[in-house]
Amino acid sequence: MTYANSILDLVGNTPLVKLNRVTDGIAATVLVKLEYLNPGGSSKDRIATRIIDAAEREGKLKPGGTIVEPTSGNTGIGLALVAQQRGYRCVFVLPDKVGEDKRSVLTAYGAEIVVTPTAVAPESPESYYSVSDRLVREIPGAFKPDQYSNQNGPLSHYETTGPELWRDTDGRITHFVAGVGTGGTISGAGRYLKEVSDGKVVVIGADPEGSVYSGGTGRPYLVEGVGEDFWPTAYDPDVVDEIVASTDAESFEMTLRLAREEGMLVGGSSGMAVASALKAARSLPADAVMVVLLPDGGRGYLGKIFNERWMASHGFAAAGAGPTVADALD
Ligand code: PMP
Repeated sequence: MTYANSILDLVGNTPLVKLNRVTDGIAATVLVKLEYLNPGGSSKDRIATRIIDAAEREGKLKPGGTIVEPTSGNTGIGLALVAQQRGYRCVFVLPDKVGEDKRSVLTAYGAEIVVTPTAVAPESPESYYSVSDRLVREIPGAFKPDQYSNQNGPLSHYETTGPELWRDTDGRITHFVAGVGTGGTISGAGRYLKEVSDGKVVVIGADPEGSVYSGGTGRPYLVEGVGEDFWPTAYDPDVVDEIVASTDAESFEMTLRLAREEGMLVGGSSGMAVASALKAARSLPADAVMVVLLPDGGRGYLGKIFNERWMASHGFAAAGAGPTVADALD
């Protein structure tokens, strides 16, 4: 019989797929790594096991304990998967820009959620960082993984994502592109790729325009899960050769194209990563092999990026632009 002993054994080893249509006019091979095929639906499944294992080992998390974390959703799902198996309670703090669908997924996995306003400074008592700190103080046996500073995040990508990229490209990867949120993915996988290639793999961070990584102040943008208004210690700037920024409009347009033209229903940070990657890929030769990591799937964004009314109300072009059968029948 072939089966996994637990859902957690299915984390990682996600496939690479070549982009064929959105890469029109680009000579290099551009591959994407489909992290939405992880059991919890995102790259964050990878960091959860390592973070919880380490907390148990270090005595920070004891039987019956509670995991408290500010998370845009995906880290919560990963943590909830592990917590569920080991009998921990989970309380997640979310900014209010996180969609209803993503919130429901967290509660479906048995987690409790607390929603906080996006448009306040990080040091405000209402900010999602402050609220989570207060919950950690008030809940007995609480453990805050803190994905922004926990080095087990980047380490999980150093130990799994990086080696998978090298193995699955037979060591031919020349460029690695990932969106930067906590910075864990790019720092961990990027560091592995730098080491194994003697510094040859070029590591490119993709960032929403306005975020600190591309020189902004953290002005609110609509793409979720990437960009910051501060510098997390999970991010190692020494690993990153270049940052390429994309606007919300560019990111959402590419997200829609990935679904329509490549058959990949992915989230806005994936569209952002591809939009930024293709700007860099335009100047690359035919023998370059670029891999872009796509962090999560599109189902958590059906009411936003994939909703014509939501897109139009924020001034973006929607997917359904152009004449339809319904128009012809009117
Ligand atoms: N995209 C999405 C949808 C995410 O949830 C995250 C994690 N915050 C990222 C990208 C960025 O990954 P990292 O935190 O490893 O930089």
